[in-house]
Amino acid sequence: MNYNPTQKNRFKESILNKNVFAITCELVPGRGSRSKVQDNLLAFAEKAAVRGQIQALSITENAGGHPALSPGILGKEILRLGIDPLLHLTCKDRNRNQLESCLFAHGREEMYNLLVMGGDYPRYGFKGIAKPVFDLDTVQLIKMVEEMTKGFEVEKDAPGGGARLPSIPFFKGCVVSPFKKLEAELMTQYFKLHKKIAAGADFVITQVGFDARKCDEVLRYIRQNNLNVPILGNVYIPSKTVAAVMHQGLVPGCVVSDKLMSMYKEESRLPDGGKKNQLNRAAKLLAILRGLGFDGIHIGGSQLTYEDIEFVLEKGEKFYPDWQQWVREFSFPLEGGFYYYELDHKTGLNTDVPVNRHQSIPRRSTGYHFNRLVHKTVFDEKGWLYRSTMTICRKISGTSLERLFTQLEYLIKFIGFECRMCGDCTLSETAFLCPQSQCAKYLLNGPCGGSRDGWCEVYPGVKRCIYVQAYERLKSFGEEKSLKENIIPPRNWSLNRKSSWINYFMGKGR
Ligand code: SF4
Repeated sequence: MNYNPTQKNRFKESILNKNVFAITCELVPGRGSRSKVQDNLLAFAEKAAVRGQIQALSITENAGGHPALSPGILGKEILRLGIDPLLHLTCKDRNRNQLESCLFAHGREEMYNLLVMGGDYPRYGFKGIAKPVFDLDTVQLIKMVEEMTKGFEVEKDAPGGGARLPSIPFFKGCVVSPFKKLEAELMTQYFKLHKKIAAGADFVITQVGFDARKCDEVLRYIRQNNLNVPILGNVYIPSKTVAAVMHQGLVPGCVVSDKLMSMYKEESRLPDGGKKNQLNRAAKLLAILRGLGFDGIHIGGSQLTYEDIEFVLEKGEKFYPDWQQWVREFSFPLEGGFYYYELDHKTGLNTDVPVNRHQSIPRRSTGYHFNRLVHKTVFDEKGWLYRSTMTICRKISGTSLERLFTQLEYLIKFIGFECRMCGDCTLSETAFLCPQSQCAKYLLNGPCGGSRDGWCEVYPGVKRCIYVQAYERLKSFGEEKSLKENIIPPRNWSLNRKSSWINYFMGKGR
């Protein structure tokens, strides 16, 4: 586990080196420009740089949807201390142009390690709840970073069009959550992972969860599907308060089961509030992840000192030779939760055999069936109304009738799908569910990590996650795997409030 701290660009090299077990540690900068929290983080970074056990310090971006010091600023100071920053880059607060500008800044500062995520839905901000931006989704943002890494060509009609921008050697990771309860939630997480990697993700970090069988599952899935990217397992050390908040489902994507919560409650009565037990547990999880074959770990937690981390790393080293023995201690499944593979009773982990997902096929909805038929008839080149509709749309385009036609289309699609008139319709790719009106983050390429028991992160108990519904609709036709294919490009805002039918037949929309 030792690492040569004098090696340049330590994080990338360590994670790509099969002989190194990479360690990253998460820092949450907090609100304000010169706060005690930030001073503590820098003191932590200073020790980490000197001791050389950690290869990168990951810095969150407006974590929990709250404003905080920009990770780029703290990252610069951390880089100067001699340790690699791993900057979180999220879609929630900025449009694509601002993201590009931010990436230029990171490139200029030689901060190339990025963890690309959608981000938590924006919450409390200056005088109210902030506007959720989500102009790009994670897959599209990874693709953008990938193109910047290669050096992309400026759009022909933009100023300086046709010029090639010099490449910036970004090294970008993404997140996956195997800790999902429903089949639809889990499978769409894995399907989206295919898209993230196809878009250019260089490594993966798992979400917060405490179930060894799930950790084994995601690793097995990556290997079985030849996804060929290094993966770091999440070792999160929550305080009792944070654990309680996660248990209530108030931290999107982070799972603390009932069984684990009662353990935390019991341990909190100990003189040290259960801290020692938690650190020991983290060390055992580290040993398990290393034993399973993870390429490293990503440590996070509340109120941790550098000495706590050091304790976990050292203990983890001691626990490692007997890692299998700790597996059953990390069995905190969600009641009735879905696992991708059959249980291996001998190890408490998984076999290589996926469970039979075809035992339960959702009922086909008449409305979905009907929409498929209409789409095939009108928009499929072989459909019997394709040619005539195309002729009508092309004739109407640019005439005084276009406005009326657009309103008619809107009326039909508003009644059928709560259309928002984006003019760049993706209904046929998202099982006839409109991401503009039914996904709080407008995601086009699969779910965020925030759904819980099938409910949307933003509207728990009120709205089901659009991708849970899409999976079920598609599965009823045996087509659920289509959710891992075809990366849907970002919405083209020049088409906003125009007819998507005319755009489609004029070759402008999708
Ligand atoms: S609908 Fe699903 S993907 Fe969209 S914000 Fe809600 S949980 Fe996330």
